[in-house]
Amino acid sequence: MRLQTTTIHAGVNKDSAYNSVITPIYQTSTFRFEDIGTTKGYDYTRTANPTRTALEENIAALEGGMSAKAVATGMAAINVALHFFRTGDHILCTHDCYGGTERLFRTYSELYGIEISYVDMTDLSAVTHALRPNTKALWIETPSNPLLNIVDIQTLSDIAHNHNALAIVDNTFLSPYNQQPFKLGADIIIHSTTKYLNGHSDVVGGAIVVNRPEFVDRLQLLVNALGQGASPFDCWLVLRGIKTLVPRMRLHEENANAVARFLEQHPQIKKVNYPGLPSHPHHALARRQQHGFGGMMSFEVNGGIDEVNRILRATKIFAIAESLGGIESLICHPASMTHASMHPELREKAGITERVIRLSVGIEDVNDLIEDLEQALDSAKTVSYSAAKQTPISV
Ligand SMILES: *Cc1c(COP(=O)(O)O)cnc(C)c1O
Repeated sequence: MRLQTTTIHAGVNKDSAYNSVITPIYQTSTFRFEDIGTTKGYDYTRTANPTRTALEENIAALEGGMSAKAVATGMAAINVALHFFRTGDHILCTHDCYGGTERLFRTYSELYGIEISYVDMTDLSAVTHALRPNTKALWIETPSNPLLNIVDIQTLSDIAHNHNALAIVDNTFLSPYNQQPFKLGADIIIHSTTKYLNGHSDVVGGAIVVNRPEFVDRLQLLVNALGQGASPFDCWLVLRGIKTLVPRMRLHEENANAVARFLEQHPQIKKVNYPGLPSHPHHALARRQQHGFGGMMSFEVNGGIDEVNRILRATKIFAIAESLGGIESLICHPASMTHASMHPELREKAGITERVIRLSVGIEDVNDLIEDLEQALDSAKTVSYSAAKQTPISV
């Protein structure tokens, strides 16, 4: 099956009693035994649930992995992945990773002595130099959040494997439609299904996918023992969202491409970070590694924080909100929102200044999106020449 067919059919047929075409929501905590010691494959929903299994089989098929587990949030998936390591292990992480990832890593290094360090993974020799004898994994996120840097998954996986370490890829920003890390050597894939996989901003969820036989049982054990599994209803919603992944991703990209081109030629804009633009420093790598450029971008304005705040306040369709990957367009200020939990020093080093604005471009009519940004930029400009004092927004 090709990917678009897989999104609709993989894993979904779970009802042999009535042959429902859509997977039912098995909203039950427990399952009646056939006889002592005999079940129909399920005994307790923390351990497994048919609606969750349907989603897990679907995501595993989309990523081309051996096994997937659907968990409560993207952070739960990262939490489970961290339990593949022990005290004294070192994880080398990309320096501009998701803010919540950095916060969890910091907590685990303090609590459990897992060593974490950060490196700019666009610089391959810096990566090699940052390896330690106890490095057990490279933590890769590409495109990065919010600067949309692209790193080379194949080369980084080779570096990891030559060091007897794992390559772990957070594939949230592109979804398996646009990027397939297992084909590029990755061992574990992380998703926040909250984003493009569900796509409708009505669930928080996560998934962890593995591609080595020795990880399959370990993953099941961890998700069950840690109690991380996603609820049947959330799984059902994500499964439903995935059915339209391909047409949504095509529209997200089409719109993002037009918005990026509009912003790039606008005199008030200093810089646009969108991998689909030929001006993006990693455009060639993105073309090679990805099947598309996705719907995320960020940009910097000419001017300071006041101008940034005015733009954020002035958009009417783009709502100020955290999160991304839903059908509606969102605008966000990473330094005070998504990346506020990141250590300030690390944030500065990664280049996430207070002038960066991030967009999650939705699937509305692109003309409305461009007009919205145009009027927001216009109104930001008008006020910037007046004496009006603006108080910074608090979010
Ligand atoms: C949102 C996000 C996460 C965390 O996912 P939650 O579902 O919010 O817990 C992890 N990684 C990336 C890249 C994300 O965008």
